[in-house]
Amino acid sequence: MSQLLAGKTAIILGVANKWSIAYAIAESYRREGARLILTYQGERQKATVEELGQELGASLVLNCDVTKDEELAALVEALKGERLDAIVHSIAFANRDDLSRPFLETSKDGYALALEVSSYSLVSVSRALSPLMTEGGAIMTLTYLGSERVIPNYNVMGVAKAALEACVRYLASELGPKGIRVNAISAGPIKTASARGISGFSKILDGVAAVSPLRKNTETAEVGDTAAFLGSHLGRGVTGNVIYVDAGFKVMGLPTPE
Ligand code: NAP
Repeated sequence: MSQLLAGKTAIILGVANKWSIAYAIAESYRREGARLILTYQGERQKATVEELGQELGASLVLNCDVTKDEELAALVEALKGERLDAIVHSIAFANRDDLSRPFLETSKDGYALALEVSSYSLVSVSRALSPLMTEGGAIMTLTYLGSERVIPNYNVMGVAKAALEACVRYLASELGPKGIRVNAISAGPIKTASARGISGFSKILDGVAAVSPLRKNTETAEVGDTAAFLGSHLGRGVTGNVIYVDAGFKVMGLPTPE
């Protein structure tokens, strides 16, 4: 069977461990023949991500804290001469306190931090790396339903994801003429390191599995395969969108009585 991403190079930001959504995306991309470049955030993560990169057959594993302009510039420098076909932004952060106390108590600093790491970084990463997409390509990010509905304790991250989805639309509009598509994948809740920071997360998982049309939780591989579709020729007509990979949970108004 032919591979969807043969001959393409993808940079994937946000692999922290094997449970990361970005790791599953990297696995799908590798299966479909893409050449992989991974990034990690700081020395603390270097050895872990280099090891994961080896398992995934990544060609390059590079440092980049997306909040540091000098590290983004160094990333661009390290990629000089590369052609990128896909950019996967799978990054978010908010202070733990802001994901457990009432939303009303969100601090100014906590709000700014969540928006900087989780929304603005899509803009800065796209600005820095899209010039390397000399033959067009696909940029994608990860979002969550908490952007448009109230999910307990998702709080400031819901605001950050709403901004992220708006960024997707503006970037899609500006980069479309260059043949670059920009989309978000709205994944259902998945137990990852980031998700564990959200107070009461396991209750959310149970609730979704009980009432979603597919009666299950989302698997990271399902997200990985949607990302592969978006990065491939098959996704060529899709830009500016939020694609739900959530076992159908979004469409439910009231749970169907069994
Ligand atoms: P994850 O494995 O913890 O991935 C989050 C990644 O963001 C980590 O690699 C983390 O690096 C990185 N990161 C945070 N701050 C950064 C910075 N300043 N610079 C560079 N990287 C930074 O969790 P995940 O669940 O896979 O999250 C990936 C994306 O999916 C996020 O956008 C998340 O909001 C989204 N999402 C998750 C779910 C879910 O239920 N899990 C659902 C929908 C959407 P470090 O570990 O080194 O800090």
